[in-house]
Amino acid sequence: MELAKRVQSLTPSSTLAITAMANTLKAEGHDVIALGAGEPDFNTPEHILDAAEKAMREGQTNYTPSGGIPALKEAIVQKYQQDNQLTYDPKQVIVTTGAKHALYTLFQALLNPGDEVIVPAPYWVSYPEQIKLAEGTPVIVKASEDNDFKLTPKQIEETITDRTRAIIINSPSNPTGMLYSKEELQAIGEVCLRRNIMIISDEIYEKLIYGDESHTSMAQISDELKNQTIIINGVSKSHAMTGWRIGYAIGDEKLIKAMTNLASHSTSNPTTIAQYAALSAYTSSQDAVEEMKKAFSHRLEKLYEWISEIPGVKCVKPKGAFYLFPNVQEAAKSNGFDNVDDWVKALLEEEKVALVPGSGFGAEENIRLSYATSLDQLEEAAIRIRRFIEKHQ
Ligand code: PLP
Repeated sequence: MELAKRVQSLTPSSTLAITAMANTLKAEGHDVIALGAGEPDFNTPEHILDAAEKAMREGQTNYTPSGGIPALKEAIVQKYQQDNQLTYDPKQVIVTTGAKHALYTLFQALLNPGDEVIVPAPYWVSYPEQIKLAEGTPVIVKASEDNDFKLTPKQIEETITDRTRAIIINSPSNPTGMLYSKEELQAIGEVCLRRNIMIISDEIYEKLIYGDESHTSMAQISDELKNQTIIINGVSKSHAMTGWRIGYAIGDEKLIKAMTNLASHSTSNPTTIAQYAALSAYTSSQDAVEEMKKAFSHRLEKLYEWISEIPGVKCVKPKGAFYLFPNVQEAAKSNGFDNVDDWVKALLEEEKVALVPGSGFGAEENIRLSYATSLDQLEEAAIRIRRFIEKHQ
């Protein structure tokens, strides 16, 4: 069977190999600690479940407009007004089947063959593949660990060509948990405006920021940057709703209209019941969001302390999301491994700790640990990682 070229060049998700190995070990009865998860370990809050059930019982089980139900679009507009003092028209919003499909549709609507999109590394695994699927070219630019995994305006300036259409800013970031400050965004935004580059602002982890700092959207920096920014967000991470598949994009009306046309021929609409659940998520109490954030914050403090103390492991302290992204190059080398990928495999085989090697995120020296699991499991994982490193010295 001859497959299309576009799928032949797709890179499989780096988490899959480890997840498959971890599942095999679990099935054999091993006590595996899985730190690979990219989703909150909490259930969707009860009142959101109730709202979905109510919608279903009231007959909200038909198709909706392709871009989403008007009430949800309005709730998203209100959210951005309240949280970020940004004023949008519902015509500037499309509700999608998860933020992932908002990004997919965006690249399809925006890129012509050969158009370049700047992707700061470490990056979320789907960005380069989605850009390639739209026949664009992902231009990976490595952000230095010494600069907290953040790109500098100079790096961006040097990367821009006459084919550059856009840059992705994911703050807080998956996999690093890093957060751009308002001043940093301002400096990057200035380059983007001057060189006429669009900013794709992936704000999916915006509600999960710990400590004193807060989230700033690129669109808040100035009206000009607002016009040049497309925001991507959703309820997956903020409201523990990954399985409901509701995300959205906000930005230029013409672009949103094109994306809506595309969606009308691919998904028709995001699941109706899930849209009503997301409506409830945005229009009812946000206490559950705060509770989850508190739990994540506590786990981050603990896990960061445990992992940083391990010899051969260097870790920049994340400011958001629910991942730690330590550099284990020194440990892997002194343990006699050629690369971190092999070290990760051996750790799983010997100590039954499953985590994701950084190579899939464009960072060969790092590993991603998700702290979307209990403190007990996190503590036990740190003990096992230390034991593994010491055993191989
Ligand atoms: N963007 C980033 C950075 C992510 O980590 C994820 C999920 O892992 C998404 C977007 C997509 O989220 P969803 O499709 O669940 O809304």
